[in-house]
Amino acid sequence: MSIDKAIEDANENSMSHDLVSSESSSLVRKELDILMTLDEFIAEEKARMDEKMGKRKKRKAIRGTSRRWPNNIIPYEIAPGTFSSANTAEINTAINEWNTQTCLVFRLRNGESAAIRFQNGDGCSSFIGRTGNVQPINLANGCRIRRIITHEIGHAVGYWHEQSRPDRDGFVQIVPENIPSAVLFNFEKQPTSQVNNFGVAYDYRSVMHYGARAFSNSGGITVRTLDASFQNIIGTAPGLSFRDIKLANLMYNCAGSCSAQSCPGEGFLGKDCRCKCPTNDPNNPIQNCLGTPVVTTTSQTTASPAPSTTSSGDCEDMNRFCGFWARAGFCSRSRYMMMYCKQSCNKCNGMINLP
Ligand SMILES: [Zn+2]
Repeated sequence: MSIDKAIEDANENSMSHDLVSSESSSLVRKELDILMTLDEFIAEEKARMDEKMGKRKKRKAIRGTSRRWPNNIIPYEIAPGTFSSANTAEINTAINEWNTQTCLVFRLRNGESAAIRFQNGDGCSSFIGRTGNVQPINLANGCRIRRIITHEIGHAVGYWHEQSRPDRDGFVQIVPENIPSAVLFNFEKQPTSQVNNFGVAYDYRSVMHYGARAFSNSGGITVRTLDASFQNIIGTAPGLSFRDIKLANLMYNCAGSCSAQSCPGEGFLGKDCRCKCPTNDPNNPIQNCLGTPVVTTTSQTTASPAPSTTSSGDCEDMNRFCGFWARAGFCSRSRYMMMYCKQSCNKCNGMINLP
């Protein structure tokens, strides 16, 4: 079942397509599961109109940092007496996915005024980014599964829907004939002033992408992928995709303390300062890139320390090319080598202790 269908089915009332949230008249719910205040909604509409009319005002919204979680910490709580142990396990699996693949740190709320609260409520829904208060991630019965929870957490981290990206027309075609006009507004593109994709390419495999028949009136396709091979892929992500993970790593500057490196292809520098590359497995979408790290420091040192033959404790090579790189002189120029090729670089015995 596609992500949008699961969310739609979990909405128990017939208002799931409407703009009004059943929780509060000052809240809007759009695209099935995005909560925003009425003021935010109006401001967004205005930004969209301005852009359509050629005005490009830079606004400080999600694009800026005001909705990010400071220090990458996201306090959360789970409403007591609401979820079964199976539900709670799904929530924890989704949280662990974010904790593992990004530098975000979800941890139980300890008095913070801004936090996420997993609760039963208005269908399945979440605000975009940090609101500054205790903000709900509403999980109605049908939404208490990992992929949907991962998706709703994505909104709270700062993600919009993939199919509403400002550049989506290059990748999908919306089919208005199959969409009731009353709900067509759910396919508006985000104003460019409100979204920063950090250069991450459009992603058919994103957990934030709705399926082919979202909001369909007749069961016909409403989101046609321009690359037909992805028509049955959209909306089916089992969890975070490679580009979902990459976006969070860039948005939250996860490699901020690493030395600069260029990663091959679409690769990016992970929080462990190693290049991460995509796989073909949606259940395990990320792997360490293969091959030589590209060193971008400009040191002129050419000394080539002889590989050490001693190995003790954690002092060992963690890449089979360490010896080769060491002989080529990378030990003195690459922080990667100091961390992952300690043996070949002869940096054992606590001589180097980088984080
Ligand atoms: Zn959503």
